[in-house]
Amino acid sequence: MGTGYSIKIVGLPAGIDSKALEHSIIKLLVNINSVMSTYQQDSELSRFNRNHSTQWVAVSSALATVVTEAQKISQLSQGAFDVTVGSLVNLWGFGPVHLTSEIPSLHQIEQAKEQVNFNLLKIRSLPPALKKERGDLYVDLSAIAKGYGVDQVATLLESQGINNYLVDIGGEERLKGYGPKGTAWRVAIEQPLAGERKVAHILDLTVGAVATSGDYRNYFDQNGKRYSHIINPSTGWPITHNLASVTVFSATAMEADGLATAILVLGPEQGFQLAEREQIAALLLIKTPAGFREEVTTHFMSNFLLGKSAE
Ligand code: AMP
Ligand code: MG
Repeated sequence: MGTGYSIKIVGLPAGIDSKALEHSIIKLLVNINSVMSTYQQDSELSRFNRNHSTQWVAVSSALATVVTEAQKISQLSQGAFDVTVGSLVNLWGFGPVHLTSEIPSLHQIEQAKEQVNFNLLKIRSLPPALKKERGDLYVDLSAIAKGYGVDQVATLLESQGINNYLVDIGGEERLKGYGPKGTAWRVAIEQPLAGERKVAHILDLTVGAVATSGDYRNYFDQNGKRYSHIINPSTGWPITHNLASVTVFSATAMEADGLATAILVLGPEQGFQLAEREQIAALLLIKTPAGFREEVTTHFMSNFLLGKSAE
């Protein structure tokens, strides 16, 4: 997934060998990568992307599960979130092969845009299968697969009777119970600053998942403008609004991951509206000339207390 992970466990149940557990976690993550990574040429998803057939293709249930959740979020966001955005992601140089840090030509953008449409990707669940209604669709699950991985690790831990844990893959987290000091887990929300790490808020949590999407880690600059890895499928261009980061709390990390990206694509107004309408607990950090302005949804307000602010 092109990122790191960390897993913290408090109070390993008797009879659980930490080395053996670590081994099964690594096996699980390697396996997820071999299904849905676009960075691995031989992953199931890469093979599906290279296969230009418009017939049903049998897939693993893991792939079908993630695509099903992705399509749900595409419907909710009216296509702002769209995992068929891959050809645009690649064109802009944010895919597995880093081709460019320059703005593509308008012609190239129009061409790649043609290949983007989540409605042309069909799912069948029994048995799991996917079908492209356009052979050159390119599916990129980077906006949601990390969250899926986090949930799978959490499920594995719970199956071993582990009830105090925090799982983090590249900043997407899921946690339960209490931390090493016997109190709630402390989750920091970063200020959306490029090149430095500063805490905006700390939240005390005992259950659930949290994911953040931002424009401040993966981007390139040209002529004083920032071009980020979050692409608006309807324009074919990276987002240009002033919403810098979105943090979503949810029961599962997969949902939080997907929704955070969806809200970020939609921007400060429409993204906030979606979050309110769908009763999503979200915190939006919006760039202003005077620093970041925060907006939190009603569902966030009624469920979480904002901890210490760095300012
Ligand atoms: P995240 O960090 O979870 O917000 O995911 C960002 C990644 O999702 C990007 O690096 C792209 O690979 C992919 N992506 C970019 N734009 C979109 C979009 N509109 N819908 C779905 N995935 C996207
Ligand atoms: Mg995401």
